[in-house]
Amino acid sequence: MTSIQHNLQQVRQRIAAAAARCGRAPEEITLLAVSKTKPASAVEEAAAAGQIPFGENYVQEGVEKVQALAAHPHLEWHFIGPLQSNKSRLVAENFAWCHTVDRQRIAQRLNDQRPLTLPPLNVLIQVNISDENSKSGIMLEALSELAQQIAELPQLRLRGLMAIPAPESDYDRQLAVCQQMADAFQQLKQHYADVDTLSLGMSDDMEAAIAAGSTMVRIGTAIFGARDYASKPQQ
Ligand SMILES: *Cc1c(COP(=O)(O)O)cnc(C)c1O
Repeated sequence: MTSIQHNLQQVRQRIAAAAARCGRAPEEITLLAVSKTKPASAVEEAAAAGQIPFGENYVQEGVEKVQALAAHPHLEWHFIGPLQSNKSRLVAENFAWCHTVDRQRIAQRLNDQRPLTLPPLNVLIQVNISDENSKSGIMLEALSELAQQIAELPQLRLRGLMAIPAPESDYDRQLAVCQQMADAFQQLKQHYADVDTLSLGMSDDMEAAIAAGSTMVRIGTAIFGARDYASKPQQ
């Protein structure tokens, strides 16, 4: 077993333990392996241990990996980074999911650029739940209007919500923020039959996210090790 495979096993155990503590089944929580800045060979190692969904933050890097790993068509690629309009076509053409839709204009572009030969792109609305410094994500007040607009686009499938809470080390405060997201998710679910995904929880807050009701945790460092940004230009 490689170290990536060992780490994956540990993260899966952490998810199972967190789920058990709040009476949830571990199968309710999908592990998204965040492979940004890591080579295709690292993805292959994780894939060999049964990992299927992978998350990428940078469009160009993500597309290169998707194409390099075309021999593994069962892998499921999620775009989880900030999305600029001029990169939306690459996301629409190469990914199965986009977690960071936060405005009508970008939703419309993804819809128009999604090839008709592919199934609709699964999208999550990114909510800015607690991070005043972040420009990504919409406010909760604007959620229902954007959800309605997305639901009308035939090449998009609204699956739920995503958030990146501001870093917070106190468990109870993490839980309070995650609970706000979970409430918004439950409300959205009542209006849209396809909504089933709350993408919430990273290495440092996944226990609180799972306790609140997250259905997808996004984990990078704990699986692939620390990222070396020096060797990779940012996009
Ligand atoms: C990088 C990243 C992650 C993974 O973070 P780690 O701390 O490496 O687990 C999760 N979600 C998003 C949106 C990210 O950009």
